[in-house]
Amino acid sequence: MKIEFYGVRGSMPSPGEHTVIYGGNTSCVYVELNNGQHIILDSGTGIAKLSEKFSNNSQNHSINILLTHSHWDHIQGFPYFQPIYQNNTSINIITGVTDNNDNDMILRQMSGTNHPVKYHQLPACITLNSQLAHKGQFTLNDFSVTTQALNHPDGGTAYCLYGDDQKIAYVTDNELIPPYAESTTWDEWVDFVADADVLIHDAQYNNQDMPLKHGWGHSTFEQVTQLALQAKVKQLFFISHDPQRTDKEIAAQELALQNTLQNKLSVAWAKEGAVYDINKMELTATNISIMD
Ligand SMILES: [Zn+2]
Repeated sequence: MKIEFYGVRGSMPSPGEHTVIYGGNTSCVYVELNNGQHIILDSGTGIAKLSEKFSNNSQNHSINILLTHSHWDHIQGFPYFQPIYQNNTSINIITGVTDNNDNDMILRQMSGTNHPVKYHQLPACITLNSQLAHKGQFTLNDFSVTTQALNHPDGGTAYCLYGDDQKIAYVTDNELIPPYAESTTWDEWVDFVADADVLIHDAQYNNQDMPLKHGWGHSTFEQVTQLALQAKVKQLFFISHDPQRTDKEIAAQELALQNTLQNKLSVAWAKEGAVYDINKMELTATNISIMD
């Protein structure tokens, strides 16, 4: 499998001179099997750039989007995803399980108040599936998918993708140790992400942010590292970076953690534009944003 990060920031887009390296767009990750079949995880502002992959109008495109939940930073890019304006495109949106029956928010943001084009005017064939994530396990093309309930205000769904004899876990936004009643316990998370080739997990905060932000629905990178070690994950990427966290601050955290872990765990803060070939487990030269 291959992973491409199009948006890695949490909460809100964060452009500017201090987010050039890790990126300022909100959550969107593209996963592709070796046979070319693909899944898009979340539809934050990063999905606008992903449009370029589907720019060939002479092709029929079939696109599957798995949404974790309906918070802004996971749906806001959808009106700017160019395939929705192509009549030879079908888009299947599988929504996460949320508390507020708000599964159609990704479309309702195009009902006339927040965006000039209304969703019923879109030429693409768009379907919304709000039941699949309830199942806990399903197949999508050649992917097998399992789900787990997020610990997050208003709920949401985490996904594990299986294909090419590999496993990718996508867990955001998620508070591993919340002060409120948890939907998924620590031990259940260990089971869910166990032996993953790649774990992509929310780590918006660090220990210094606590206790102020305890209960806001995100984890610290220290907690996530512990989880990854316990679950014997091979590669850990942090995502949902705090919008206030600068490149310099993230790089300092990253270097310190890598020095601490040494060979125990391969870990990095996800960078917008980075492409990883899981078959090789190394960063390729293909980068679509400015790197250091
Ligand atoms: Zn959220």
